[in-house]
Amino acid sequence: MLISIQRVFTCLLLSSCFASTLAAQDTPTPVDPATVIRCHTHHKHQEMRASDPGLDARRADINAQIDEWIATHPSTSQDAVIIIPVVVHVLTGPGMPPIYYDQIRSQIDVLSQDFRRSNPDKVLTPNVFSSVAADTEIDFCLADTDPNGNYTSGVTYTTTSVDNIGNTSAYYLTASGGHDIWDPDSYLNIWVCQIGDGILGFTFQPGVAPANRDGMVIDYRYFGNIGTATPPYNLGRTTTHELGHWFNLEHIWGDAFCGNDGVADTPEQETFTSGCPSFPQFSCNNNADGGDMFMNYMDYSNDACMNLFTAGQKQRMLATIDVQRPGLKSSNGCSLNSVPSWRGSDFSESLSVFPNPSTGEFTAYIEFNAPSTVDLRVYNQLGQVVERNQFTQFYSGNLPIDLSQQPAGLYLVELTTPFGIATKKVQVLEH
Ligand SMILES: [Zn+2]
Repeated sequence: MLISIQRVFTCLLLSSCFASTLAAQDTPTPVDPATVIRCHTHHKHQEMRASDPGLDARRADINAQIDEWIATHPSTSQDAVIIIPVVVHVLTGPGMPPIYYDQIRSQIDVLSQDFRRSNPDKVLTPNVFSSVAADTEIDFCLADTDPNGNYTSGVTYTTTSVDNIGNTSAYYLTASGGHDIWDPDSYLNIWVCQIGDGILGFTFQPGVAPANRDGMVIDYRYFGNIGTATPPYNLGRTTTHELGHWFNLEHIWGDAFCGNDGVADTPEQETFTSGCPSFPQFSCNNNADGGDMFMNYMDYSNDACMNLFTAGQKQRMLATIDVQRPGLKSSNGCSLNSVPSWRGSDFSESLSVFPNPSTGEFTAYIEFNAPSTVDLRVYNQLGQVVERNQFTQFYSGNLPIDLSQQPAGLYLVELTTPFGIATKKVQVLEH
């Protein structure tokens, strides 16, 4: 259960607030790649094009500026890593399970690893491509400061009644049941929701979408690498791929038979790759170039079979940031302008439980002096989660916890916040 409240007292009036009990989640049943649409970005582009006669000329102009930047910046090495503030708008629609903060965190970690080439599976990049594999020197942080300069967890939660909202025009409008964008010049906006029609995600290249929808939409089943993440797209690479498009990358096959992706160091490739073929595969006479680079993030391979961006793709992304999205480099989104006074403090002080021992009904008292995202889990001795509550705007208060349906024994209460974890052992007596 997902609860967004200003004060926990409000919640105490609602008896259902604390009914949340969650068994340890198993990995969801895999989906058949033949039944999904790996990426809807090209389709969305065509959709926008149909109603925007100026789009082609605008895109041509942007690409010309980017090509000029690349021509005048032959070295791709940066003075400093660019850190992009990210805000995730979770839109919980009908029948959709809650998306917890740790799943969102897991996606940000994947982005950091993939873009900085610190992904553990980089060792799987074939030798023939290892010389072009790049650390893009682009990194990500969950925003800690909102557009008004206030502290934020970097996540907004909205409960919506709109079915498959990601494939409607409602997701980017609060008034329609979605959530308004945060200034896309300063934040990368990711809406996590149900999209429907088997679509994993989509975004817009620069100049394609109006500012109020200039972000990415990812289906909740393909976001992050834990929780609801569904094989074979459960390693967070859908977001890595879509972010490549947001930075103006094309698909590796150029969306045409042996097409051009505008990048010199990716071999020509006949079409997209499904599943996870064995290396090498050849097409378009690309033998001398090493064959198909189906492990590039801009192909359609399974998440586990992707592991690189190239130096050419890096250059195109850096050019795009400088030419089209320069505000990201001066954003205050991760500046912690309003540092919570408890940041860096000892979190064990923030959590107390009483009575302890108990017969299963006890209270967790949490104390903060700034609103925070809070994720409170209770584990049994097998490490299974037997109770879980999450709040997005939590100050201080009592959380009643009921383990009276659980056997007697030792349990662990764990409190996770963006800035630390506190744990307390509790004993449940025979009852
Ligand atoms: Zn794509």
